[in-house]
Amino acid sequence: MTGYLLVWFTYYVTQTTTVLPRRQRATGTVRPADTRRHHRAVLLQHLVDHGATSRADLARESGLTRVTVSDLVAELINDELVTDIGPRPGGTRVGKPATLVDIAEHSPVIVAIDLSDDTGFTGALIDLSGSVLHHDQAEFTRGTAALDVIADLTARIIATASRPVLGVGVGTPGIVGTDGHVLQAPNLQWENVDLAADLGRRTGLPVSVGNDANLATVAECAFGEGDDAGLLMITVGQGVGGGICIDGASVTGPLLSAGEIGHVVVDPDGADCACGNRGCLETFLSAPALRALPDTDARAHAGRLLGSVLTPIVTTLGIADVVLHGPTELLDGPVLDAARETLARQTLPFVARKIRIRLIAHDDLVLTGAAALVRFRELGVV
Ligand SMILES: [Zn+2]
Repeated sequence: MTGYLLVWFTYYVTQTTTVLPRRQRATGTVRPADTRRHHRAVLLQHLVDHGATSRADLARESGLTRVTVSDLVAELINDELVTDIGPRPGGTRVGKPATLVDIAEHSPVIVAIDLSDDTGFTGALIDLSGSVLHHDQAEFTRGTAALDVIADLTARIIATASRPVLGVGVGTPGIVGTDGHVLQAPNLQWENVDLAADLGRRTGLPVSVGNDANLATVAECAFGEGDDAGLLMITVGQGVGGGICIDGASVTGPLLSAGEIGHVVVDPDGADCACGNRGCLETFLSAPALRALPDTDARAHAGRLLGSVLTPIVTTLGIADVVLHGPTELLDGPVLDAARETLARQTLPFVARKIRIRLIAHDDLVLTGAAALVRFRELGVV
């Protein structure tokens, strides 16, 4: 796992939750419980990244004493996060072979929910290593009724878990505020919906909520081909969202709305948008809008509008890696070609030569990012 993620999540958490309040960090106050949590996270992180390890090697790698490591490992075994798996196979050292410990096969799992796709809400059961164990779907729903649908989907997935559930992670379109409040998500017709509290009450589990595009951006940088130095992700689903990473840190901005390019107006006389404006980029480029377009020319027009919106962003930030994330059958071809051509035409030749716009399918990226958020919030593992 890259250090990038640690930077991002640390930034994300300090910006948007009370898990690691900035005030406490600024004064340098460290409580013993925080130290212990941090040390547990260091050991878990090593096991997630490198697999089975002896206690002695964990001590060497972490810089903690062997006594501390033994104590923490005992605690992690008691919490069913870690297990003894026996001696190192094929060991040649003289004397009793060291017993290895690893992430427990029956360690807790995570429920992840993705609300970004216009064809339906998706949920998954994901283990601590990021593998998807089970998928489920629910009908796309707006307004307060969506909360019932999300709760039902979450409950169905929890019911499939044969191991304890660590928490629930949700990737949602819109602007996500502190503690999982969705401040505004026009496509879901949500205004100040306390999603984390609502779902937490119904499930009895800790719930973490992040912007879908931001979570996809982090997952692409961590697990995909993303460029840690700078990446701009455009997510196309029911709406159009965006996520930005620069120099290893996610950019959310003081308004927590960075990347919300879907509601940039590109045609003041255009169609009504869910946000209340007219002619937003989203009215041309969302999945439902693209599906409704009559022909190749109309899709190329949507691609040119995307290119025009991307140009000042990419130029200002100096980002070379632009990722279009969504239904490939809608985005490949005229949309992608026109966006590339427009961006190349409207920037300096030096910049244009460096930029690549690539397409990735609307797969498990938001789900994986949501699970990673829960793993970090609950265990400190990135
Ligand atoms: Zn709009």
